[in-house]
Amino acid sequence: MYTVTGQSISSEPAIGTIRFYRHIKNIIKDAVAADTQAELARYRHAYRMCMEQLEHLYQTTSTQLSSTEADIFEMHRMLLADNRFGPAVENAIIQQSKTAEYAVYSVGQNLWEQFVGMEDPYLRARAADIQDVMNRLLFALSGKKESALDHITEPFILMAEDLSPSETVQLHSDRLLGFVTRQGSPFSHTAILARTMGIPALINIDINEDWDGHLAIIDSEKQCLIIDPDETLIRDYQAKVYSEQKKREALLAIRDYPAVTRDGREVKLYANINTPLEISAAADCGAEGIGLFRSEFLYLNVHEYPDEEMQYQIYRDVIAAAPRGHIVIRTLDLGADKKSPYLALEPEDNPALGYRAIRICLRQPDLFKVQLRALLRAAAHGTLHIMFPMIISVTEVLRAKELLAECRQELADKKIPCGEPVVGIMIETPAAALDADRLAEEVDFFSIGTNDLAQYTLALDRNNAQLHTFYDPHHPALIRLIGMTVEAAHRHHIPVCICGESGADLTLTKTFVSMGIDALSVAPNALLPLKKTIRSL
Ligand code: PEP
Ligand code: MG
Repeated sequence: MYTVTGQSISSEPAIGTIRFYRHIKNIIKDAVAADTQAELARYRHAYRMCMEQLEHLYQTTSTQLSSTEADIFEMHRMLLADNRFGPAVENAIIQQSKTAEYAVYSVGQNLWEQFVGMEDPYLRARAADIQDVMNRLLFALSGKKESALDHITEPFILMAEDLSPSETVQLHSDRLLGFVTRQGSPFSHTAILARTMGIPALINIDINEDWDGHLAIIDSEKQCLIIDPDETLIRDYQAKVYSEQKKREALLAIRDYPAVTRDGREVKLYANINTPLEISAAADCGAEGIGLFRSEFLYLNVHEYPDEEMQYQIYRDVIAAAPRGHIVIRTLDLGADKKSPYLALEPEDNPALGYRAIRICLRQPDLFKVQLRALLRAAAHGTLHIMFPMIISVTEVLRAKELLAECRQELADKKIPCGEPVVGIMIETPAAALDADRLAEEVDFFSIGTNDLAQYTLALDRNNAQLHTFYDPHHPALIRLIGMTVEAAHRHHIPVCICGESGADLTLTKTFVSMGIDALSVAPNALLPLKKTIRSL
């Protein structure tokens, strides 16, 4: 038994077997094949290996577990043999002279995109199987031992060098107990995703491939990973997990009560979500609405920008599912650490200060207008709040609203029904906080993004693992900017919410409530502890 220290990015503990996750992107090096016949032979060899692995898994799983669990491997074999997959990869190698890895990745990714956009939930769920099969082939091609994740049927702790936001969002698995990475920062989107998904996680751990298959404990409180814990420790931690669970259940008693202080001040409590799947967790934790839906996470893993119809259907469905019909959809906030293949963003020296969010949308209005039209159409089905991220000036707000008006006109010309969304902005740059009075004249609400506001006010790259000790959410400059924003909003009679991670920081709740904040929007898991704190003030 030994302990490795790191940094925890969520508060829950976890116990389970470690599984090592290798990045696909490290495996795909070249697109063009030097020798097509050699690539084809490599691919056929990998294909046969995968078929054998799947057959073996099918046999062992049906004896050790049940035929239901085993069927999944049979289905993967069928998928691999399907004309749209295995044979399509051969065609890409022969006809387009692609390397085996590139052909597998592009065929798999294309198929994944088709499935992930399907309306039928059963077919949509097959997207994850396509990903699994693609990974299996890529690992077979790499000559390394096969991916530890593909055939695991028991819960596990994932270990990786690093996880990007797009990889993290795909990890939504019932079997994922937690994750441990070497890289990372507590303020990155990966960390935020882990908290939103309620996944225990440690970063800055000096990981070791040999831990694959070993039992480990994530001790979030002591910020360490315990490898091969002894019996006594395992029992202690199981008791801890159990008591955390009980504490969470006890908090459910206040779920349907308002978040109101003892002197009668009410704060609306909303949930932040990254995918529509998280709405039910938000509702279970008593969210009074969705205060931030990071729409860009829907589009991170796809090669083509989803069309208007697909976006419209997603937005329409989230409006229908949102607790108490309240939902704030943030328009595309891509760039910096959230890269999308279809945008093909150039590498930048300072991505956080670079071409991102509203800047991309205003520079590429055709792309932005697809989303705006989809949002306007969805707004016909209920009250919809939309907000623009990374605003620094009134000019940007006016331009975004102009584009919205253009879209409204285009839809009206085609007699397509649309609604009137409530329009707000994120206050997440010092420029916006300082100019909040003028901005408030142009919008219906503010939402303060303390993650970026801290990054830009304190000049601290939120993704830089070296800097977290300098980060201070209580920094007087930050608190002052938040206070100024709240005052400006109220001078103009518009509501203001905090949707950055500070909203869930219980050491700041009293400060925010005394400022007169109207709402806080936090990860679903953070809602009930926050409500309890507010009710005790
Ligand atoms: C923020 O910046 O505080 C915020 C809520 O947005 P994101 O974390 O997605 O940048
Ligand atoms: Mg932000």
